[in-house]
Amino acid sequence: MRTQVGIVGAGPAGLFLSHLLARQGVDSIVLEAQSRAYVEGRVRAGVLEAGTIDTMNNIGLGARMRAEGMVDDSLNIRFRGKEIRLDLPGLTGRHVMIYGQQEVVKDLIAARLAEGLPLLFEATVEGIEDIQGPRPRLRFRKDGVEQVLECDFVAGCDGFHGVCRQAPPEGVIRSFVKTYDFAWLGVLARAAPIADMTYASHDRGFALCSRRSPKVSRLYLQVPGSDAPENWTDRQFWDELHARMFDTQAQEIQEGEIFQRDVARLRAYIADPMQYGRLFLAGDACHIVPPAGAKGLNMAVGDVRTLARGLVAFYREGSRAGLDRYSADCIDRVWKTIRYSVALTGLLHRFDEQTPFERGMQMAELEFLHGSPAAQRVIAEQYVRLSDVSD
Ligand SMILES: Cc1cc2nc3c(=O)[nH]c(=O)nc-3n(C[C@H](O)[C@H](O)[C@H](O)COP(=O)(O)OP(=O)(O)OC[C@H]3O[C@@H](n4cnc5c(N)ncnc54)[C@H](O)[C@@H]3O)c2cc1C
Repeated sequence: MRTQVGIVGAGPAGLFLSHLLARQGVDSIVLEAQSRAYVEGRVRAGVLEAGTIDTMNNIGLGARMRAEGMVDDSLNIRFRGKEIRLDLPGLTGRHVMIYGQQEVVKDLIAARLAEGLPLLFEATVEGIEDIQGPRPRLRFRKDGVEQVLECDFVAGCDGFHGVCRQAPPEGVIRSFVKTYDFAWLGVLARAAPIADMTYASHDRGFALCSRRSPKVSRLYLQVPGSDAPENWTDRQFWDELHARMFDTQAQEIQEGEIFQRDVARLRAYIADPMQYGRLFLAGDACHIVPPAGAKGLNMAVGDVRTLARGLVAFYREGSRAGLDRYSADCIDRVWKTIRYSVALTGLLHRFDEQTPFERGMQMAELEFLHGSPAAQRVIAEQYVRLSDVSD
């Protein structure tokens, strides 16, 4: 098999890249280790930044998002029974969209297959050869048979646990890591969500109320890193959520059947550089953000827009300049986005080792944010378009 760009992974990064390239006449083959049903059912992110909304529309795949997604005009933060309301259009001129990552992925997969373009499921890449040479090769296994895909370039869009980041010789890619000793217990519940995305910093820990549809709430609680979803009964979950959201009469947040739950450890990770030879890393393959900023999916889109621009320039103009500076073009945005997510995590969570002084500092910062439109604008700007890249 042969193609121009071999794409490893059919998560948001790989799928968006395949469409951005196809629109510009560049061929690609996407190899995905999991089945289509598994990839489409994976519940993860849900907040689309302005640039991601634009990208969906620009590749002509925004129709269902516009019909079924929910425009979010506000981001709220509760503390001490007070509420900070960030009016996103008023502060930034833009809004975000609530539309589940699995819905984005379904739209991108359906369009790719409808266009008759190659996307192979249950095709696991096991090795990358000759990434320094002119014709890298992806060795992959499908239906028990080992096959080889020869390409001009490899896009490593295979997530944090993928193989691509491991392919360059040791020491070429530096890792920058921050770990947390807590996690988020996330649930999906058949319950009408509260109107706005709302974070809470409570003495008992962080909580977040978000939504996936007018009838489905996406809800999170900060829990110890060693916790497991089955440790929580539904009753315990709802009681804790009401308490942390300052819903003291348990009348504001609607309860309903919890039909999905997971625990995700928080961490921040950056791989630098994001390229080696003819291999280019994008999305979770080269960075992980703590989820408070709602940036993981949006960062992946920013990466592949930059990468697509470099690849298209190569095939149209014969120029490698954009590809050569791919990592340099991305890395400041990546650090800035991770800085925002780490800062928001630090502001809103309880930490085991936290002293009363440090808790006082968190409260003082929230009080400042409560009273300062300028400070509110700083958060709103970053929430709405930090991962965006200019074309
Ligand atoms: C539980 C959870 C909750 C999250 N919540 C949020 C959130 O609320 N907001 C937010 O912004 N972000 C969130 N994220 C992060 C966000 O989902 C990711 O940043 C996003 O999925 C990154 O997309 P990606 O395409 O880079 O990687 P992925 O979505 O991980 O896709 C990588 C793909 O590569 C495939 N693959 C791996 N190895 C191979 C191989 N060897 N061969 C072939 N294919 C391979 C995988 O099967 C996968 O489909 C969450 C992540 C998790 C895990």
